[in-house]
Amino acid sequence: MSTVDRLQTPLAPIVSRLDRLFPTLTSRQLVRIEAHGRRRSTTRGEVLVEVGDKAFPFFVVLTGELEAVRPSDGTETLIVRCQPGQFSGESNVISGRPAITRLRTTEPAEVIQLSREELLALIQTDAELSEILMRAFILRRLELIAHHLGDIVVVGSMHSAGTLRVKEFLTRNGHPFHYVDLDRDRDAQELLDRFEIGAGDVPVVICRGQSVMRNPTNTQIADCLGFNQQIDQNRVCDLVVVGAGPAGLAAAVYGASEGLDVLVLESSVPGGQAGSSSRIENYLGFPTGISGLDLTGRAYSQALKFGAQVIVAKGATRMACDGQRYTVDIDQGPRIRARAVIIATGAEYRRPALDNLSTFEGAGVYYGATPMEAALCVGEEVVIVGGGNSAGQAAVFLSSTARRVHILVRGSGLADTMSRYLIRRIDENSAIDVRTRTQIVALDGNGKLERIQWRDDQTGEVESHDIGCVFMMTGAVPNTAWLNGCLALDDNGFVKTGPDLGADDLATAKWPLARRPYLLETSRPAIFAVGDVRSGNVKRVASAVGEGSIAVALVHQALRQ
Ligand SMILES: Cc1cc2nc3c(=O)[nH]c(=O)nc-3n(C[C@H](O)[C@H](O)[C@H](O)COP(=O)(O)OP(=O)(O)OC[C@H]3O[C@@H](n4cnc5c(N)ncnc54)[C@H](O)[C@@H]3O)c2cc1C
Repeated sequence: MSTVDRLQTPLAPIVSRLDRLFPTLTSRQLVRIEAHGRRRSTTRGEVLVEVGDKAFPFFVVLTGELEAVRPSDGTETLIVRCQPGQFSGESNVISGRPAITRLRTTEPAEVIQLSREELLALIQTDAELSEILMRAFILRRLELIAHHLGDIVVVGSMHSAGTLRVKEFLTRNGHPFHYVDLDRDRDAQELLDRFEIGAGDVPVVICRGQSVMRNPTNTQIADCLGFNQQIDQNRVCDLVVVGAGPAGLAAAVYGASEGLDVLVLESSVPGGQAGSSSRIENYLGFPTGISGLDLTGRAYSQALKFGAQVIVAKGATRMACDGQRYTVDIDQGPRIRARAVIIATGAEYRRPALDNLSTFEGAGVYYGATPMEAALCVGEEVVIVGGGNSAGQAAVFLSSTARRVHILVRGSGLADTMSRYLIRRIDENSAIDVRTRTQIVALDGNGKLERIQWRDDQTGEVESHDIGCVFMMTGAVPNTAWLNGCLALDDNGFVKTGPDLGADDLATAKWPLARRPYLLETSRPAIFAVGDVRSGNVKRVASAVGEGSIAVALVHQALRQ
């Protein structure tokens, strides 16, 4: 029999948040909820939701009491109790991902029960309840993350690229996890040694107390946690959005909120490049800035709220465009059929041609500067390679925790590539220096980056420095290889759209319509390209979001024809 390990303050939210985390609904609100579901009686100790249940129901307590617990090794940790007027659930009830806590009654209770579909219908039609429920679900998820109350344990080392990747994957998916740091926990290291688990097998991930995976891929983790289980991948969707960065998420929000059946494919995690930004300060409406993770996390919740379905850790591998309907093959998955496609696959940082670069990726060489990478470089000297806005942001952000920040640029200055507000901040910051006409020429270290060499291109002088943190931010290449020659691209591989498409492009693609392509439409009807992947896009969050929303209006027009 299981025992309940009662924490004194199970979820210990700050008091001001308590009424938002566990609000008590009014009798009028209860009536509106009941209209979407049904009232039912329960018995003492009845389990209403079990850990791992998929697309589980939502409950509101009318009389009696419910408790949410997290079972582990035959014991249970009490998370919270719901009293009359309060309701169950957190983010998973919306996303349809498997439950991570057990919900049961502590005494005979009367409840209102809504299926996930009934709950989605409620929050799409009742603005007041939508605000209360969404806020509570998101805050509850944040509390679970803060208290590491998840169903997955990551045993890793911050010097392993795999550990960083897995932690980032779980963090950016908003999934709570418990982390055991091998660099600090000698017992854990000894245990791994006994099982002959070598450095290449790290991190070891224990998923739902059942499977033990050695250095798993993101797809394996997503499969184990059932991230994509609820999604029917075999239907024909109105709209497939490929890529869940700001552009793809905007398309998903506008498409789903306007009644389209939207499926989003994301090869990694929702958020895209913006999700790796420490602070976005030029996005309208956020005068003090917002972290990329917060901004895109909210957009992701918003897309789910309107009913968009998002497949994560499974990217599009190939597009077929010869038939009447377009199909997109997904990584280890079925072929997706769609009436319209929005391509929002963005771009990726260029990887400089340096010997043994891949050896140090995630172990001293990083492509994003989030708090996770910053924590690895506290008190250290760091190098940022690149002169664009993302390099400038990273420099300002890292200068608050690093000992010294060197920005290396090939050109003669930053003025042509970086916004003035960032240049000013860099000039005023004594912890940052800019080395112009300088580039990295060698990386060295044993298991992790320990030394680098840079060369002054004017003098030809090469200097060696004991630096173990390098951030590569050297421009981007578009993610278009998977398009399989279906669409006209510009000389740099970005997708051409609307007025940029010449007569040759349309003739090659056998454009079949009397009209020309719409503004964001590609050389194939009803296939649109938005955001950084599009030729001529200005590479900003705002433009990605704007294009994602405009494309949806054009999808409606294209589908009507
Ligand atoms: C560190 C950093 C800081 C930045 N700061 C700012 C800023 O302050 N202000 C600003 O305006 N802009 C900023 N930018 C730029 C901004 O983030 C981008 O312009 C914006 O993210 C582009 O959005 P997107 O959706 O077009 O593409 P992306 O953000 O690149 O998203 C594309 C998504 O598609 C996915 N994908 C790729 N290939 C496939 C495939 N085959 N199948 C499925 N999915 C796929 C990727 O995994 C990714 O999630 C910054 C960028 C970086 C890297």
